[in-house]
Amino acid sequence: MMEIQLHNITKQFDELIAVNDLSMTIKDGEFLTLVGPSGCGKTTTLRMIAGLETPTSGTLEFGGQDMTYASPQERELAFVFQAYALYPHMSARKNMSFALEHTDVPEEEIEQRISETASMLGIEEHLDKNPPNLSGGQQQRVALGRSIVRDPEIFLLDEPLSNLDAKLRVKMRAELQQLHREIQTTTIYVTHDQEEAMTMSDRVAILNNGNLQQIDTPEVVYSQPANRFVAGFIGSPSMNFLDCRFEESSGTIQTDAFAIEAPDDFSGDAATLGIRPEEMTIVPAREGDFSAEVTVFEQIGAYNIVHLEIEELDEAIVAQVDGSKHFDPGDTIGVEIDPKYVHLFDAADEAV
Ligand code: ADP
Ligand code: MG
Repeated sequence: MMEIQLHNITKQFDELIAVNDLSMTIKDGEFLTLVGPSGCGKTTTLRMIAGLETPTSGTLEFGGQDMTYASPQERELAFVFQAYALYPHMSARKNMSFALEHTDVPEEEIEQRISETASMLGIEEHLDKNPPNLSGGQQQRVALGRSIVRDPEIFLLDEPLSNLDAKLRVKMRAELQQLHREIQTTTIYVTHDQEEAMTMSDRVAILNNGNLQQIDTPEVVYSQPANRFVAGFIGSPSMNFLDCRFEESSGTIQTDAFAIEAPDDFSGDAATLGIRPEEMTIVPAREGDFSAEVTVFEQIGAYNIVHLEIEELDEAIVAQVDGSKHFDPGDTIGVEIDPKYVHLFDAADEAV
């Protein structure tokens, strides 16, 4: 059992608070992703879990045991970085066996672990090659393999796919998911890419400025974002935000372009209305909740993106439409908003 608990962890570098009062539990066997913009404290958090950095305050437990000040060696974890740091003059096989050679793992067992891992990662035929003769994807697999053969209790991965090209990244995303299903090791994965976080994880922890914003399943952070930061960070293209106010007499939420019925449980202090591009419906001109003019049309394929200018609004909004739909700049269209897909944020929901 290797549940990891962070209790009020803070890390300060001089004046800068890199991680602020972070508490969370990573369940045994879980794949948890730390996601957030560059500089939000992801790597620092991972390095504290690895024992490469000491918290300024707070405690860290592995399986109920205090590990706040344990050395990296005592922690039985494997850390995979963005740069694979393979030894270039050693074969892939040697790179994988190296860390086990001076342990009490018998030689036959090392051999067996390497061959099983290589087969799981699809690199059997490359084991005798040196890293410079391997592609980026193969090197990444060797780096993962080197960690897997050590049979760690915990896997820490810091942006391991960011050096790969886009196609390979998508492929490795699926492979890592499958790998985790097979080995079931507690895994903490770090990325700035919300799509990577959403597609791979059991749960996602969203950080901003060292502060935890929300930790939940991909479904929940998408459909019930805790605040405006999470709402804007998760999902692509990003959620549209419009200023709004509650009109008590009519029970409606008013924006400068349209009004919708307020939800039953509404408290009355909404400041911002959020609507996802994929949750707006384009209808013929002069129908729907408001009309807009198409300024830019982006043909993606499976779906397309339409940028819209609305007379009453200062900012453009973005809608996502079916791949079969085509519009031209200058077209006038109608937009329908379904109140059940609208997100309302009050001033207190602004990101910390
Ligand atoms: P992320 O991995 O999310 O991009 P980091 O954890 O690397 O962010 O960094 C968080 C903040 O802490 C950044 O502002 C970064 O500049 C700062 N930081 C990280 N490591 C150090 C360090 N060793 N000394 C001083 N500042 C640091
Ligand atoms: Mg980082």
